[in-house]
Amino acid sequence: MEKKSGSTVLKTIVADITTLAMDAIVNAANSSLMGGGGVDGAIHRAGGPEILQECKEIVDKIGRLPTGEAVITTAGRMPSKHVIHTVGPVWHGGRKGEPELLGHCYRNSLQAARKNGLRRIAFPSISTGVYGYPVEEAADVAVRSVIETIQAHPGDFDEILFCGFDAGTERKYARALDVEDL
Ligand code: ADP
Repeated sequence: MEKKSGSTVLKTIVADITTLAMDAIVNAANSSLMGGGGVDGAIHRAGGPEILQECKEIVDKIGRLPTGEAVITTAGRMPSKHVIHTVGPVWHGGRKGEPELLGHCYRNSLQAARKNGLRRIAFPSISTGVYGYPVEEAADVAVRSVIETIQAHPGDFDEILFCGFDAGTERKYARALDVEDL
């Protein structure tokens, strides 16, 4: 699925996010920034120790990264240039501020990108793995938050990818994007 909002292309794809060549890929990290399972583990494995070293320096400076916030490092050995690390909310049923926090992840990741002049960004399906966020709900929040941000900053982004690791996930982001009136 591919759509345009102003000059920005919005696209859903099925891929291993570590193989993409973007200005930045986003990592669904945890607050420790010390790596973990899922996409976080894959990014640190593919990128190598340089990323963890930079994460350690960030934690030394600011402490644990709160849910919804985002920080940026290089991408080590991966084809992309940077990794934007954000911490998604753990799903507790949906009435504990999960949608707002997940929206913050997308908005703050794109703000970090803007600050660094990064125009081509790929997101994984934040929070929908180990953190248990239902994919359909997460896809709605993701697509809405991204569209709001790019419409607030027209001309700042060339391409935003929603990268599903499997076709089922990608389809849900495609549906969420399809129903948006751009
Ligand atoms: P969280 O802890 O935020 O739920 P996970 O990493 O457990 O994060 O899962 C988030 C999503 O990332 C899941 O849909 C999972 O299938 C996907 N994922 C795992 N590895 C990769 C990868 N290499 N590239 C893209 N997506 C991935």
